[in-house]
Amino acid sequence: MTTAARNFEAGLQRPEDAQLFSRAELEKIRADFPILQQKVHGKPLVYFDNAATSQKPRAVIDAIVRYYETTNANIHRGVHFLSERATEQHDAARRTVQKFLNARSANEIIFVRGTTEAINLVAQSYGRANVGPGDEVLITGMEHHSDIVPWQLLCDDKGAKLCVGPIDDNGELLIGEFADLLSPRTKLVAVTHVSNALGTVNPVRKIIELAHERNVPVLVDGAQAAPHMKVDVQELDCDFYAFSGHKVYGPTGIGVLYGKAALLNAMPPYQGGGDMIASVTFQKSTYNKVPYKFEAGTPDIAGAIGLDAALRYVSDIGIDRIGAHEHDLLEYATTAISQIPSLQIVGSASEKAGVLSFVLENVHPHDIGTILDQEGVAIRTGHHCSQPVMRRFNIPATARASFAIYNTREEIDALARGIEKVREVFA
Ligand code: PLP
Repeated sequence: MTTAARNFEAGLQRPEDAQLFSRAELEKIRADFPILQQKVHGKPLVYFDNAATSQKPRAVIDAIVRYYETTNANIHRGVHFLSERATEQHDAARRTVQKFLNARSANEIIFVRGTTEAINLVAQSYGRANVGPGDEVLITGMEHHSDIVPWQLLCDDKGAKLCVGPIDDNGELLIGEFADLLSPRTKLVAVTHVSNALGTVNPVRKIIELAHERNVPVLVDGAQAAPHMKVDVQELDCDFYAFSGHKVYGPTGIGVLYGKAALLNAMPPYQGGGDMIASVTFQKSTYNKVPYKFEAGTPDIAGAIGLDAALRYVSDIGIDRIGAHEHDLLEYATTAISQIPSLQIVGSASEKAGVLSFVLENVHPHDIGTILDQEGVAIRTGHHCSQPVMRRFNIPATARASFAIYNTREEIDALARGIEKVREVFA
């Protein structure tokens, strides 16, 4: 299968067709991120911890400051000028997310705290209403803990079973075995679009097709996909899609759950409180329409406005170009570091997004991270909230470099030099 065909399968929009950034464009992008202008331990900061959280461009920082300086008010309940303006901006943010995901309606966009809360919402609302004793929820062996534990809580509560599709030595889902696990008892499939620990891009379109053939709805964890590739929820035909604002250059504390309107309308509320009700008496409450039914209490208004600015920033540059740039960095980094003796890359799927996990013989990943930090290079070390993946590869942890819009090949050279230093220290 060609790369283009595989990308199509994975729901990617062929980033290799997009034009790479020129040197001048990349410099301009880097200048948009104030945090990158500093030195760490006397060295220029090289930030390769983007899968954990990405840095914020000036446009996002300014939007949040502007909101608090000029508009701050609670939304929906006020008739005064500021409240109406804050409400308009919050509504506009929802429409920006709708456009970003190509959802049919803005009402299919629910603001949450992040991917974790989005998945818990589906588990506790859709799951509690639809999963019963003996039923099954199917996930993959490469999920983040936030796409495992909510389902365990649900299954424990309901007497249901969590089934796990296995992955191979490259970190790819064994799609045939996954399909075999779809049974008449499967009530929901939940899969990550991109693995945060391995970088694997899952064939989500294929997974959704397989599940839909059996009338099973699919939730896609898009935490590591939304920042790197075009996501079109209508084209994918996923039932739920979750992502976090802070990984896509937006603020922390804001994220998105997309859900098909028919499913959201039928689902019971997740949390109770203000804004999610139509009427309340001590005898009975009735609920607001979606999306408000799932947004109890004062939301993160500034966060939504910051997310709006982040998604506009990404869209103005072009998500396909961002994906192409990161892919170029991934290939460059893979070539550079795989030449280092005693280094082993963990995760070599044929389709990967900008995540490079590795281990060095006889060196604990935390030591790699600490020495690299002294060189100004920020990476993440540990199990990456994916302990089952670590167990699958018989390792306690990895060192992980993950790439974003503002990273450069020169920074990868700095990473490679830093790893050589680690080897010298432990020689
Ligand atoms: N899913 C994946 C694949 C992730 O990488 C992460 C965070 O790293 C999450 C879910 C959880 O995201 P958050 O902590 O923003 O809710």
